[in-house]
Amino acid sequence: MRIAVVGARLAGSYASLLLSQIGHEVFLFDGSTEKEKPCGGGVTSKALLRMPWFHENSVPHSEIRRMRMIAADGSMADLPLKHPMHIFSRSRLDSSLREASIRAGARFIPERTARCLQHRGVWLLSTAKGEYEADFLIGADGATSTVRACTIGRFAARDLSLAVGFYLPGAYHTDTVITVFQQEGFRGYLWSFPRVDHSSVGILRWLPETRSAELRRRVSGFIAEHYPEAGGEKR
Ligand SMILES: Cc1cc2nc3c(=O)[nH]c(=O)nc-3n(C[C@H](O)[C@H](O)[C@H](O)COP(=O)(O)OP(=O)(O)OC[C@H]3O[C@@H](n4cnc5c(N)ncnc54)[C@H](O)[C@@H]3O)c2cc1C
Repeated sequence: MRIAVVGARLAGSYASLLLSQIGHEVFLFDGSTEKEKPCGGGVTSKALLRMPWFHENSVPHSEIRRMRMIAADGSMADLPLKHPMHIFSRSRLDSSLREASIRAGARFIPERTARCLQHRGVWLLSTAKGEYEADFLIGADGATSTVRACTIGRFAARDLSLAVGFYLPGAYHTDTVITVFQQEGFRGYLWSFPRVDHSSVGILRWLPETRSAELRRRVSGFIAEHYPEAGGEKR
């Protein structure tokens, strides 16, 4: 079967890998795969056990043994983890999975899918450079999914959150994930995830209640208070 997978990060690359391994002809589309992502990358021990791919491929990651939770009033609790959590750089993890799917036979098309429609049982996809046909379509193209827009419609703002993140180069509290809760009623949280060569520090809030400038101000304040040694070095 010809299968078009739109979005070549975790979900799309892993689906492409599994489908290619069982003999399907897979086309994997994505026009923007190289960028690091501030969110995601935390994989539980339970999830690792369920995905043999992780045991056969070594992708550098941090091992987390402690979770620190900070309340809005500054009080905090440290929770030791029974089983470690594994924190990956998204660009490294996503590209390793994508390369594995290509080795398994998927054809990676580094282009954004602009349109998809079903005609007489066949999916027709177009990018800026070409037209493609598939028998089956998988949308793995994230919160602003084109596949979703072409099929059942876009998410409404009330179904979305906005996240803003920074990367702090270097290693900080390498065995601890930090979650910071904001004032009561704030639907979201701030996080700091130590990755191998940087920390991902960001904040998320329910979209209708926020603007990116407000989130940037909160996360910058947290970085200045908790990582003074990072100086102005954040990206
Ligand atoms: C703050 C936050 C923290 C999180 N923490 C964790 C965590 O610790 N652990 C965890 O497991 N999950 C976590 N998640 C969830 C995780 O980030 C998502 O589940 C994951 O990123 C989804 O991966 P994906 O491959 O489905 O989509 P995405 O990572 O969103 O990738 C979508 C891809 O589709 C591509 N794309 C978009 N439109 C098109 C198009 N038209 N044509 C072609 N390509 C297109 C984009 O370029 C992108 O590369 C977190 C999420 C947030 C917001």
